Amino acid sequence: MTQKHDNLIGGQWLAGSNYTPNLNPSNLGDVIGEYTQASAEQLDAAVQAARAAFPAWSTSGIQARADALDKIGTEILARREELGTLLSREEGKTRPEGIGEATRAGNIFKFFAGECLRLTGEVVPSVRPGIGVEITREPVGVVGIITPWNFPIAIPAWKIAPALAYGNCVVMKPADLVPGCAWALAEIISRSGIPAGVFNLVMGRGSVIGDPLVNHPGVDAISFTGSQGVGARIAQQCAVTLKKIQLEMGGKNPQVILDDADVAQAVELSVQSAFFSTGQRCTASSRLIVTEGIYPKFVEAMKVRMAGLKVGDALAAGTDIGPVSSLSQLEQDLSYVDIGQAEGAVLLAGGERLKLPTDGFFMAPALLTDTTAGMRINREEVFGPVASIIRVKGYEEALFEANNTPFGLAAGIATTSLKHATHFKRHSQAGMVMVNLPTAGVDYHVPFGGRKGSSYGSREQGRYAQEFFTIVKTAYTLP
Ligand code: NAD
Repeated sequence: MTQKHDNLIGGQWLAGSNYTPNLNPSNLGDVIGEYTQASAEQLDAAVQAARAAFPAWSTSGIQARADALDKIGTEILARREELGTLLSREEGKTRPEGIGEATRAGNIFKFFAGECLRLTGEVVPSVRPGIGVEITREPVGVVGIITPWNFPIAIPAWKIAPALAYGNCVVMKPADLVPGCAWALAEIISRSGIPAGVFNLVMGRGSVIGDPLVNHPGVDAISFTGSQGVGARIAQQCAVTLKKIQLEMGGKNPQVILDDADVAQAVELSVQSAFFSTGQRCTASSRLIVTEGIYPKFVEAMKVRMAGLKVGDALAAGTDIGPVSSLSQLEQDLSYVDIGQAEGAVLLAGGERLKLPTDGFFMAPALLTDTTAGMRINREEVFGPVASIIRVKGYEEALFEANNTPFGLAAGIATTSLKHATHFKRHSQAGMVMVNLPTAGVDYHVPFGGRKGSSYGSREQGRYAQEFFTIVKTAYTLP
């Protein structure tokens, strides 16, 4: 018998309409647990519970919030190995990557425990003599949080922690593929001293409970991370109901490699950001834009490095790349390898499903060469271990191709030229720019987000998170 896991609504653990098994993508015979599916009525109950809890929580004072967030962060950090292992077991990134993500989640709660105490306002002179003007920030209200499957503990953490820190109540809907980490996090939050109803977890499908969460009149704001298609739909719905929104969506991130780059460093950061975490990161580099002088050396060195990558069980020691998270994602990844070749690209390495001792969704990371900017593999997000190389003449063309995309999340450049690095940082049309570093891998205390089709609304993380999770009030006083 596997353990059953319920929704957290108004401080009660409640079973939904049915349970679905959470399967390990490294080994489909391994059932992590049964997770309930919330009904639309339960979603409504969760929103009502959050609304009821809001007046007291939003005025509870910053010490209570700081203490609760600190307690949550402390427990996550103390249990990082266990939570990281659960994460790797349900999502498929390697155990060190899973532990790293759990650590990040703990650090985020600790950071926002401090931020509770640092919220400031302004007192400014009025243009009318004798009047005082105060500018303060207040909680937004009930926030609906909708998260994707690829960072099952860090993304919930970086939305929940600031929401609670600034006095909001939360209804959280995790991706139905990976409810395990979200449930574990909710269980920790439920014991943190936060009053019943302030934080609620509803698990289930986007169409069944995500959609009603977005449209619920009792929800004041939606913070969403996921695909561009779903994000755009949520934006339309929230425009009608006039909800505040924050959307973080897909990427088609470029990694530029210039002639003057260190080849070994360029290969390492390209492999790391294209293929680690199975390429399932919104910040993964899927377009390697290489100038012609370094091209032959770089391509040869990539081939050698990729031959040494070990694809395997996410929990096994020595695995570099775990499985793809689901069958549908694996099918999508493989289909893009075919699409690329049909468009004229050459498959340099990988690109096939691997048969390993356990029944899982394993795939050899794929690298396509001879690709051009207009090809679908260079325009559409694959979201798997599939990268392509675009050959260019020099820096100007590399910059043009880096920006030649509907997305704008992250961009990287490998170069020893200060001039080109400085120019690229200024002229890249991405929200995050990396010089001689992988595009994936960011700090937890500074803003995260993109431009163009990758993001909409104010930034997440760091103190910039207060833009979304607070609302500004201007008060005038005649003493
Ligand atoms: P997805 O858009 O399919 O799902 C995201 C969430 O939305 C899930 O919880 C899902 O159940 C829910 N959802 C689906 N339909 C909905 C609806 N009609 N109404 C409300 N909610 C609905 O995305 P995914 O496959 O889970 O995640 C992969 C995507 O997330 C990729 O595009 C990736 O780039 C993106 N992502 C972006 C960032 C970032 O910060 N920019 C980070 C991680 C992942």
